[in-house]
Amino acid sequence: MPEVNLFESIKRYICKCAFGLSLATNVEALLKMPMREYHVSLPMKMDNGKIQAFQAFRVQYNDARGPTKGGIRYHPDVTIDAIRGLAALMTWKCALHGLPLGGAKGGIVCNPKELSAGELERLSRAYIQALFQIIGPDKDIPAPDVYTNPQIMAWMMDEYSKIAGKTTFGVVTGKPPALGGSPLRQDATARGGWYVIEKACQDFGINLKGATVAIQGFGNVGSEAALAGQQLFGCTVVAVSDSKGGILNWNGLDILRLLSHKRETSSVENFSSGRSITNQELLELGVDILIPAALENVITMENVGSIKARMIAEFANGPISSDADDTLQQRGIPILPDFLCNGGGVIVSYFEMVQNMNLYQWDEEKVEEHLKKKLIQAYHNVYSLAQKNTLSLRQAAYTIAVQNVVEAMRLRGWI
Ligand code: GLU
Repeated sequence: MPEVNLFESIKRYICKCAFGLSLATNVEALLKMPMREYHVSLPMKMDNGKIQAFQAFRVQYNDARGPTKGGIRYHPDVTIDAIRGLAALMTWKCALHGLPLGGAKGGIVCNPKELSAGELERLSRAYIQALFQIIGPDKDIPAPDVYTNPQIMAWMMDEYSKIAGKTTFGVVTGKPPALGGSPLRQDATARGGWYVIEKACQDFGINLKGATVAIQGFGNVGSEAALAGQQLFGCTVVAVSDSKGGILNWNGLDILRLLSHKRETSSVENFSSGRSITNQELLELGVDILIPAALENVITMENVGSIKARMIAEFANGPISSDADDTLQQRGIPILPDFLCNGGGVIVSYFEMVQNMNLYQWDEEKVEEHLKKKLIQAYHNVYSLAQKNTLSLRQAAYTIAVQNVVEAMRLRGWI
């Protein structure tokens, strides 16, 4: 199977929407290039006393709209091209949701499941030591992504503060609430995604109450999505999976019990009240709503013909390759694009930055109210443009986001 490259997909999307925006060729070329990228190696003493070097990256894709923002992922499959694609997506995400921020992404090539807590801490501190000069509350602000979490953000904030000689809460977001973190940040991506699904179901004639849902991924986003879908939105979550495998029960899974099963066995596999399925089978289920909430490129030309869901909500970044996206559009399956649907995470990260600047903590109600307002507004903008110009939701979202970035570049005098 030819390897699907996320960054190439993103560049194709820019071309597709650039057509509608009539961008000059040089502007389009600029949008397809990261502005800055850093490649570092992080030598670290392992628990066995040996030194091991880890490869790490930070890509600051575009800072026309403000300091760059985006998560850092720890994963063995991290590549510079994937990080470039994810950094570009962060640029569109912040622009679509009207945040005064640019886009960035970072990654360390490692398998955190094989590292001890001490090794994880030393690696996270090493990342900050290596990149201290180029990050900061008004430069570039990392956050959690795949296999990183509030504890890692706490270590990073501490390391940055030690080097800077002052407590600097605002250098990373997604911190624990006891250290300048925002209420609701942990649930924000999943909760926000459901607000978008709720609106889209009204527009596309799907009854959310009792709708069948399959979720690929049971990490931070996937597990919160399952819980919120069942408890807050009245859906029947029939299948979930993680990297080891999946579980299906057409009568609905008991998500709270499944969460404790996962805590005990570190997988959803072999959950007693359901039957085992593979990740591939989960993607191909005939459900009302399919939520890919794990990694990029899980729906490609290889399996797109078998997709039967009535609607797809991309909680992961880049889960559908651009050619598979064309096929699904032709089949008329509504797709709620990643940087619309999963923007809740960075929106609450932005609220966290605002709270850190004022050394103040909002209450949960205020965060929820502002989060909901922003997501519904973004969905409304995307849906109306799509309706008006017969575009897919993704094309409409790209058009708005790229236009916002281009306007900032023009006003700064860059183009
Ligand atoms: N990693 C998340 C994302 O892909 C959150 C980024 C952030 O909060 O900066 O949107």
